[in-house]
Amino acid sequence: MQTTSLQTIGHWINGTTTAGDGGRFADVTNPATGKVTSRVALASKATTEEGIAAAAAAFPGWRDTSLARRVQILFAFRELLNARKGELAAIITAEHGKVLDDALGEIARGQEVVEFACGIPHLIKGGYTENASTKVDVHSVRQPLGVAAIISPFNFPAMVPMWFFPVALAAGNTIVLKPSEKDPTAANWLAALWKEAGLPDGVFNVVHGDKESVDTILDSPEVSSVSFVGSTPIAKYVYERGTASGKRVQALGGAKNHMLVLPDADLDLAADAAVNAGFGAAGERCMAISALIAVDSIADELVAKIAERTHTLRIGDGTRGCDMGPLITAAHRDKVAGYIDAGIESGATVVIDGRKPNPDAEGEGFFLNPTLFDNVTPEMSIYQDEIFGPVLSVVRVDGFDEGMKLINSNPYGNGTAIFTNDGGAARRFENEVTVGMVGINVPIPVPMAYYSFGGWKNSLFGDTHAYGSEGVHFFTRGKVVTSRWLDPSHGGLNLGFPTNS
Ligand code: NAD
Repeated sequence: MQTTSLQTIGHWINGTTTAGDGGRFADVTNPATGKVTSRVALASKATTEEGIAAAAAAFPGWRDTSLARRVQILFAFRELLNARKGELAAIITAEHGKVLDDALGEIARGQEVVEFACGIPHLIKGGYTENASTKVDVHSVRQPLGVAAIISPFNFPAMVPMWFFPVALAAGNTIVLKPSEKDPTAANWLAALWKEAGLPDGVFNVVHGDKESVDTILDSPEVSSVSFVGSTPIAKYVYERGTASGKRVQALGGAKNHMLVLPDADLDLAADAAVNAGFGAAGERCMAISALIAVDSIADELVAKIAERTHTLRIGDGTRGCDMGPLITAAHRDKVAGYIDAGIESGATVVIDGRKPNPDAEGEGFFLNPTLFDNVTPEMSIYQDEIFGPVLSVVRVDGFDEGMKLINSNPYGNGTAIFTNDGGAARRFENEVTVGMVGINVPIPVPMAYYSFGGWKNSLFGDTHAYGSEGVHFFTRGKVVTSRWLDPSHGGLNLGFPTNS
């Protein structure tokens, strides 16, 4: 229900907040209390176009701003972010529900990309060849694309936009960010920080909205690139519609991440990792482990160790020093609980049932305790679907090959991990697994900013992963210049194809 007395979160266009045309709004809720705390404006086509036009108008000036000046602004942004990250973490916890430490963690991973992007002069440096042909020189440059749109999901309201905008801006593009309507405030906070850091108005814009603004972005001839992160069906849709209108698109989708535990693994380390990666951020991470593949005889012992640890977790309001917060909405909590019902109905063994009441969680928050299933089989919906909640499924297999086959036949390929002390097995896993990000005794292998983040198969549509050198390539295009300064020796007609001589 909408309540007009609530504070309204507006768009950020041309360096200032604007209500837009005021037609539609969505409630923003604190998931730990279940209370509506504000409402966010949902941009119409016209308001979205206003944001795009602001970015397009700012592009020529920003593109021609020296690299030295751009880097100074990035440095200033990094310093402000580092000094005031506590404010941003509190905003994230209040609208997303993840615990404060986890919110600080996502900011730290985003900040790494800002730090990486500060090296942009080196990253876009071209090559130079003197005398490629007689008295002919060749050099290459990388130039920005124009308006870069970013469409982000609810689960990382700061980090996911920061996978893209530091590199895009550093390379000379201007931005339209369309964050998730479920936790919109972080985007406006980041926009205001850019202004404080000295970024000219119009270079970084935030348009809040839903499908209407996304479709406007995808169809706009003024938008050059789209970086999307969200669920697989929407990622596929964004990729197809965006590329159909001639844009460069990278669309990162959903996941079903497996952790393969071999009999020689350190089972305490593996159990710690399974709990951290399965239940951290209430399982609302695209790199969460949701399927644990226990090889051969270790399953009983491993399940017991995971259960023992899971019972110690404190679930509650993320501001109060607990381990796990609520889910994002009541509807999502109910959907995840529905999967638990389905798991039980399909014959999986429920070792810990998260639907039981939780004494730490108060009020009307969207809490669901961690759930541990054993004896899950591949045809069950709890195995097949991305649940995006605190539900960990243990699948028992005979031997490494059966586990590997399961992982490689999964339609998703975002992250995976192997736990073992056998270097040969780990090497074979790394070599043969059809997944984009691989951990060896590391459960959540999110690449550092100087590598690139991205999955395979249904976890990414497009050719380019986020940040790192792939991000630099995505937000720039190459140009090669062949030059000869006039010299009488080069006169005369020659209609042949240019060759090197
Ligand atoms: P979502 O797909 O519902 O929303 C993502 C974005 O798309 C939001 O900005 C939303 O407003 C917009 N959107 C929603 N419906 C739309 C529609 N019909 N048409 C056009 N745009 C639409 O995803 P979410 O629930 O916000 O985030 C969770 C999902 O994101 C999970 O599937 C998770 O795996 C995925 N995710 C993936 C990665 C990755 O790196 N691969 C990272 C984070 C999250």
